[in-house]
Amino acid sequence: MSLKITSDCINCDICEPECPNEAISYDNKVQKTYVINPDLCTECIGFYDEPTCDKVCPIDCIIKDTDLNETPQQLEEKYKKIWNK
Ligand code: SF4
Ligand code: SF4
Repeated sequence: MSLKITSDCINCDICEPECPNEAISYDNKVQKTYVINPDLCTECIGFYDEPTCDKVCPIDCIIKDTDLNETPQQLEEKYKKIWNK
């Protein structure tokens, strides 16, 4: 499943450049925090063994979005689709 950023985000800017899929961006309209595009988040499958955004976030406000039930296989397919593999 994709990850999501909670409202605890302090907009420190650290995670955004770390995402290999460019799934993280600042939402200046609704949340006023960084957000993750679930269509682009593969939990870092294809790049790293674990979600790198979660690793670098200093306040641990990036969590699994349990509403989005994706298997590792589906995440792998998403990775291949994004990168035309
Ligand atoms: Fe990007 Fe990986 Fe975080 Fe998903 S888990 S938003 S792919 S850094
Ligand atoms: Fe927000 Fe964490 Fe990303 Fe910093 S690293 S912008 S606190 S989600």
